[in-house]
Parts: sequence; structure tokens; C-alpha cells
Amino acid sequence: MDNKIRQLFPILQNKINNKPLIYLDNAATTQKPRSVVEAIEHFYFNDNANIHRGIYKLSQRATNAYEKSRKNIAEFINAKYTHEIIFVRNTTEAINLVAQSYGYKNFKPGDEIIISTMEHHSNIVPWQLICKKTGAKLQVINIHENGELDFNHYEKLINNRTKIVAIAHASNTLGTVNPIKKIIAAAHAHNIPVLIDGAQASGHIQIDVQNLDCDFYAFSAHKMYGPTGIGILYGKEALLNSMPPYQGGGDMIKKVTFAETEYADLPQKFEAGTPNIADVVGFGATIDFIKSVGIDVIAKHEKELLKYATAAFSNVKGLKIIGTAPEKTSIISFILDKIHPHDVATILDTEGIAVRAGHHCTMPLMEFYNIPGTTRASFGLYNTKEEIDILIEALTKVRKIFSR
Ligand code: PMP
Repeated sequence: MDNKIRQLFPILQNKINNKPLIYLDNAATTQKPRSVVEAIEHFYFNDNANIHRGIYKLSQRATNAYEKSRKNIAEFINAKYTHEIIFVRNTTEAINLVAQSYGYKNFKPGDEIIISTMEHHSNIVPWQLICKKTGAKLQVINIHENGELDFNHYEKLINNRTKIVAIAHASNTLGTVNPIKKIIAAAHAHNIPVLIDGAQASGHIQIDVQNLDCDFYAFSAHKMYGPTGIGILYGKEALLNSMPPYQGGGDMIKKVTFAETEYADLPQKFEAGTPNIADVVGFGATIDFIKSVGIDVIAKHEKELLKYATAAFSNVKGLKIIGTAPEKTSIISFILDKIHPHDVATILDTEGIAVRAGHHCTMPLMEFYNIPGTTRASFGLYNTKEEIDILIEALTKVRKIFSR
């Protein structure tokens, strides 16, 4: 990846503690290119009005911009219909929507929901909430020590009480890329729908929802160089049509009387109230940005960084990588001697290096590894091998400080 890409991200010119910023917390949120921020600014300065209501020109322009983004995203993930894309706040809201709407309608006492040991809290807690309401219970797929899913255990968990499988495309802590096509096929053999938490895959891996044949797919714009506060839920048309609304309000109705309300068709049925119009427009610009670079180019670059960093990390004494599955995204979690991850991250910060430390919203996974947390470096399209070299040097410094 050339320097031109870095120049598209103004924040990367920042100095932190008088050192050039080395941003390695892309799994938490990525930085935003100028084009995305400008698209949002352009919307507010030129097209801002509420959508789907106004007869006047400006509202039509706002509506067009909003709906154009939906089409852009639908094409990007190869959805069959544009109305299968529901705008939500983020991955978290998408999963809560499915749990509360699909789950409330379909789960009975004794029913089972399959998730895995490596799930983010966003793909655990929404299911626990609906379990409490309906009497359903969670079943958790084991993982192997290297962070790979135990597929045999998964197959054993599937039975006639299983009502849904909800699984991450890629783990935010381990980097593991799960064999979701195989997972989906195994569930479909028993007519069980599958939700994919794509928060760590979108922006890194080409997503084709028709090829995967997933029933639901969720992701957030902010983890793929887009704005915060906006994400999507993809759902197959028939499933979304069968589900009750998640929230009620304006824009999701056809007719309201005090006796009864008739809901709007997809996608409006699931978009109650004034949505985050400007960030939807920004999301569209995000897709344009990714397309202009090429998702394959991004994936190749990140793979190279992962390979380079993995090799470099293994030369750091006392460093153990947590998550060594053969298929990984560009995420490396590690522990360094007995040094607390917060201490590692604090010292790295003095060198201008931003990494994440802690449980990464995967506390059950930390329990599996019997550790309180890890330090995590996660790479994006603008990171470089030189930055990894500086990180390695800084880690050596951390060890020195703690060996005094
Ligand atoms: N799932 C995974 C795998 C994630 O990494 C994250 C974010 N860390 C989420 C879900 C939740 O994403 P958001 O906070 O954007 O809702």
C-alpha cells in the first residue's frame, strides 16, 4: 500500500506524545478518509432535510441520497434485494433486533440458540436477554487452544431444539476467521437460520451474502473506515417479512388507528423514527472508498502485515500470541511475560502507539484462556511494516522496564 493511501486519512498526520501516531486499534474502530467526512459535510451543507416525508425538492434529495447508500451497500454484499438492508446504529443493534423480533416470535422454553466461545458480548448478551424472556437457552461451541472453532462439537450441538445459530465471521480478539459457509450449510441441513456477526469481516473480507446463503448478516460502518452510529442488518426477505417490528414510531407504518396499526413494507418496517441520515450518506461514501481501493487489495495488504507481524512477534522474548488459527484477519492478541496488558498499552502510548488492552468484550473467551486480558494490535489498510518494526522495538523497551 503506498503513501497516497495514508494521505487520505488526515488523522494519521497527528503526533501523540511528540511521536508520529501509530494507530493499531482498527478492530475497535478505524480512522476515516477525507472523502467520507466530506460526504457527510456535503450532505449537511447541501441536501439536509428529513426523508420519506417532504414533497419538496430538498427532502427528495435527502431521500435519494439515503436510499442510494442502501443500494450501494446491497450491491457491495450482493444482497438479492435492496430492501433486505436495514439501517441500524451498529452491529450490536442489528443483533438485538433479530433477538428481540425473530427470537420473541419463535423461541419457546427449552429451545436452544447456538453461539461460540469466541463471541463478542454483542453476540452473547442480546441472546441472554431473549432467553430470559422466552425460556430458551444458550449452547456454546467449544474452541481449540489455537482459537479455531471445534466444528465437531458444533455439529453435535445441532438438534431439533436449535432455533438459530449466531456466530462471528471473524473474532475481534483472536482474529480467527470462522468457516461460516460450512457452518451455515450444516445449520441449513436442519432448517435452522444463521446470523453472522460480520463486525470484524466487513472492510477486510469480500462478503457475498447470497453465496454464503446466510439468513442474517450484521456489520458497523465505523469498523470499515466509515462513520460511527450507523450499521446494517441484512436479512433474507422472507425472514424479515415474517418478523414483527423491533421498534414502533414514525416512518414504519402504513396506517395507524388507536385500535390497530398496519406496518410499512421492508425496509421501513424496521426503521422507526428519523434515522441517522447523514451517516447513512457517509456509509455510502465509505463503500465507494473501499471499492476505489479494492477489497482484494486491502485483504492482500493486511495479510502481508499479519504475516510480517506474526513473524516479528515470535522474536520478542516472553511474548505469546493468543489466537494462532490458520485463517486469521489482521489481528494479533498477545501476552508479554506477566506484565499486565494495561501497563503494556500505557507504555506503548508514550511511543505514540495506540493498541487495545483488556478483555475486548470477550470475557468468556478470556476465561477459556484463563487470562485477565490481552494486548491487541489490529491492522488496517493504512498500516505499514515500518510501524510494526517500531511496535516491536517498543515492546522490547516494555520488557526492559519491567525487568528492572
Ligand atoms: N462483534 C464483534 C466481533 C465486534 O468486534 C464488535 C465491536 N468490537 C461488535 C460485534 C460490536 O460492534 P458495535 O460496537 O459497532 O456494535
